[in-house]
Amino acid sequence: MKFLAPLLISFMTINAHAFTLNNSAKLVFSQDEVTVNVAGGFCNNIGISDTEFLSIVGDAVDQFWNKAPTSRLKLRQGQIVNLATAYHTDLICTAGTNCTPNPAIAVASDILVTCNNNTTNFSSSSILGVTIPNNISGNTILGSIVMINDTAATQFDTKSRAEKVAIIAHELGHAFGLGHSPVEDSLMYYATVTSRVALGADDISGISYLYPKQQPISGCGTVDMSGKGPSTWPGLFIGFSIIGLAELFRKKKVKLYT
Ligand SMILES: [Zn+2]
Repeated sequence: MKFLAPLLISFMTINAHAFTLNNSAKLVFSQDEVTVNVAGGFCNNIGISDTEFLSIVGDAVDQFWNKAPTSRLKLRQGQIVNLATAYHTDLICTAGTNCTPNPAIAVASDILVTCNNNTTNFSSSSILGVTIPNNISGNTILGSIVMINDTAATQFDTKSRAEKVAIIAHELGHAFGLGHSPVEDSLMYYATVTSRVALGADDISGISYLYPKQQPISGCGTVDMSGKGPSTWPGLFIGFSIIGLAELFRKKKVKLYT
């Protein structure tokens, strides 16, 4: 039984996350900053202006993914871009059981969010968005496309602004490499994201796994045994001092009022 505890602990450590990747190849952007642009002039059925669409994208970036403290990836709100009608009308994948990205709508770089009215992409009105990295070199994502359901039957237009922000944030997660999380309290949970207002712990684990923040080391990573202590000691002392002072005042208070 003795060896079971360490085994269990290591198993729990290895399986501490539940996030998945949106592919088996661990595709990631190579750069630390990825811009999210919006295709202009295509959102006919969901009834929002290009400017509002870009604003929603900006909030999706700021309120969700850029708040992951342990990830080096920063998403930037881009601009409204003019593109061929194919981005509004075409299939996201060419025919086949496995999705081969449609080369006619390859995104040259970064992430593009576009309204799309293709009823094969959106076979159900409840599908609000579809996303795929569609310009890849080896294991590197060069460009990804996010399509928002702009068919006549779309339900995207029935959502509140906050819900639209969360939906696009969810799709952005797919665009930079994440799959779905089985953890319900996650932006990347597969089902409804209508009540999401912030990243869940599993979302932060996922983005940090794909885009770990580099920890700068000044000099060697040594442990100081000299007795002078590392820089955290003064903070600890201050902390103890505050506690000590508080205790002193508390005692004085007791004296005064009893
Ligand atoms: Zn999804």
